[in-house]
Amino acid sequence: MKKALITGITGQDGAYLSKILLDKDYKVYGIVRDSAVSNLANLKYVGAAERIELIPASLLNLSSVMKFLEATKPDEIYNLAAQSSVAISFESPIKTVEFNIISTLNLLEAIRVLSLKTKFYQACSSEMHGRIKDLPVTEKTVLHPVSPYAISKATGHWLTVNYREAYGLFCCCGILFNHESVLRPKYFVTKKIVSAAVRISKGSKEKITLGNISIKRDWGYAPEYVKVIWLMLQQDSADDYVVASGEAHSLKEFAQLAFECVGLNWQDHVVVDKNLYRPADIEATYGSPEKAKGKLGWKYNLKFEELIEMLVREEVKCRGITSYQCLSSERKELKCDVQP
Ligand code: NAP
Repeated sequence: MKKALITGITGQDGAYLSKILLDKDYKVYGIVRDSAVSNLANLKYVGAAERIELIPASLLNLSSVMKFLEATKPDEIYNLAAQSSVAISFESPIKTVEFNIISTLNLLEAIRVLSLKTKFYQACSSEMHGRIKDLPVTEKTVLHPVSPYAISKATGHWLTVNYREAYGLFCCCGILFNHESVLRPKYFVTKKIVSAAVRISKGSKEKITLGNISIKRDWGYAPEYVKVIWLMLQQDSADDYVVASGEAHSLKEFAQLAFECVGLNWQDHVVVDKNLYRPADIEATYGSPEKAKGKLGWKYNLKFEELIEMLVREEVKCRGITSYQCLSSERKELKCDVQP
């Protein structure tokens, strides 16, 4: 039986990845800050909570990291733990940069010092490419991070590449663009829009306040993106891959479609507030998934409109509401299953 260790197991991707690995008969260990108080809601949602072994540990402490790696000797490590919000990183730059970088370095250093044969996945981010004009982003695109979060991810990326090149560790970087699901934390703008649209369709009188709605991003569906993370560690050699849908859409389009899915006009419910603009932002970005599709055989064909409808459908289901209006009848047949 293969053994996998996931940091950030309680987050969106950690939950979906746990489910995939358990279905493949892995023994799954999850590192948590404190097992007594950790929020296991996402793991319960995907049906993984009872089937994994949680290990409370501090990723900022090298001896603590060495201790759990010596005890578990995993075949694969998926390093997903991070302060993952760009917006929060502007409010807490030191904590973001410190945690995201030192936790990664401790894991890599522990693998090296203990001479483990463990394969390592680093959750990098499209944000580290930041403000570049030469689109789409590929694995060769230069880095120009424009937030503390992006800087922490850029550093994590280069640390991972360095341990691969300098010490021969099997380390892969997944350069993932935004990927969404019902498990997104509520402070992410996509979740804020989708959950508000559903609540308003059920009678809530609230308005939602958004920042810059003209920014364009490449949005995908998290349960599908997590599949490619696993594929990266199943290859003969370690490499880096961009994971993206290949399409850019504005936040305005996102809001418009989400509200249309529940039969509402977004303009009646959304307020734009310039105070929510970020100190520095990326105007538009999208990635090329060609390498991941060609070399890893990753299949992803979900269109933006289908993604939004899926997110609304999951949100509705999650709230126990049984019916909502679809944009059009042909969109009712979706390519992915809504079940995680
Ligand atoms: P998420 O839902 O925010 O989950 C983050 C995880 O990291 C949670 O398990 C959280 O634990 C843990 N964590 C945060 N701060 C921590 C700390 N100080 N000590 C220990 N654990 C800590 O993130 P996600 O969407 O699943 O993303 C997974 C990874 O992919 C992250 O590294 C993220 O930056 C990266 N990424 C995500 C996207 C995306 O669109 N989702 C795109 C590119 C890259 P608690 O439950 O205890 O808070």
